[in-house]
Amino acid sequence: MNNEIQSAEENLIRVYNRFPVVLDHGEGMYLYDTDGKEYLDFAAGFAVTGLGYDNKELNETLKAQIDKLYHTSNLYYHESCGEAAKELNRVSGMDRVFFTNSGGEAVEGALKSARRYAYTKGTGRYEFIAMENSFHGRTFGAVSVTGHDSYREPFEPLVPGVKFAKFNDLDSVKALVSDKTCAIILEPLQGEGGINLATQEFMGGIRKICDENGILMICDEVQCGMGRTGSMFAWQGFGTRPDILTMAKAIGNGIPVGAFAMTEEVAKYSLQPGDHGATYGGNPLACTAVKKVIEIFERDNIVGHVNEVAPYLTKKLDDLVDENDCVVRRKGKGLMQGIEITKPITEVNRRCVEGGLLVIQAEGNVLRFVPPLIVEEKHIDEMIEKLKRALAD
Ligand SMILES: *Cc1c(COP(=O)(O)O)cnc(C)c1O
Repeated sequence: MNNEIQSAEENLIRVYNRFPVVLDHGEGMYLYDTDGKEYLDFAAGFAVTGLGYDNKELNETLKAQIDKLYHTSNLYYHESCGEAAKELNRVSGMDRVFFTNSGGEAVEGALKSARRYAYTKGTGRYEFIAMENSFHGRTFGAVSVTGHDSYREPFEPLVPGVKFAKFNDLDSVKALVSDKTCAIILEPLQGEGGINLATQEFMGGIRKICDENGILMICDEVQCGMGRTGSMFAWQGFGTRPDILTMAKAIGNGIPVGAFAMTEEVAKYSLQPGDHGATYGGNPLACTAVKKVIEIFERDNIVGHVNEVAPYLTKKLDDLVDENDCVVRRKGKGLMQGIEITKPITEVNRRCVEGGLLVIQAEGNVLRFVPPLIVEEKHIDEMIEKLKRALAD
């Protein structure tokens, strides 16, 4: 066995089902292992590397920041903390932001912010309504609002006061609303849960329920945000501005950074000095990454590119559904799509990897495609060819 794999197997806590591949470097849409084998990447490290690999401009900017300063503490300001916050607020449509190191932490902060808002207002509200099939991360708060028993049960008792409604079923949400409801949390496009897109009616309905009942709407856009669905953030495509928004994954293109943000109205009553913190959160390297990633996104019109290329992916996947008995349906939007198949998903995924194609599994026997957003039609053609081979008998 490869030495690296052996050491990993002997020393790491075994929580991941890894493929026997040791990755070495990447370029654009491709990753290469230590034997030089090439992989076309339709996984983007879990929808993280929106700009792909080895973006020279981003690399140089990060290297320069490392040479200058990469950690201070939040007792002081640094050169890009205000700029990164301003830019992220501008593109996400929020007013105030807190930088975290991950998506789970962003969700954690969003939940705390909602409770803190209710506490200041003295409403006595503390309950969260979350969605079945949702995924919000692995920390205790995040797991508590994640709608999968397998993620929750081994760690109970969890954060109390969480109820689960059916995704895209407004009546099931209404049935859970009470004068104790503090916030409703949902992903506009569920990722892990099987690439389930919220309907316009559902998003609009949730916004209305929240407005009419003094409830905060939390959108978790850790995965579907940052251009992936054809708008900078998915909520913008629905026109339903949330009160609190969580972000991570693609906002730093792989530099560990997440964020939760809120409207000024929520911020006024929510977290106060001393209520929350993160030692690394928003350090100079993370903020430099966010600032540069947003700059590149806008200058290169990445969102426009997503809207140009996504219909091609949609068409190719629809063709696959028509041509292949084992492909039941296509799901998703923009460059966050999936196909539900009847064949054993893990085996198909393994064959994809062997054939030099990286994809991700999702709930409901779904194969997920979340490529770097720089993907072009020729890469989609190559992906479809490799996928067909993996699906063949
Ligand atoms: C990945 C993900 C998270 C958790 O992010 P981490 O950085 O792994 O903690 C939370 N919410 C959604 C929707 C995600 O896809």
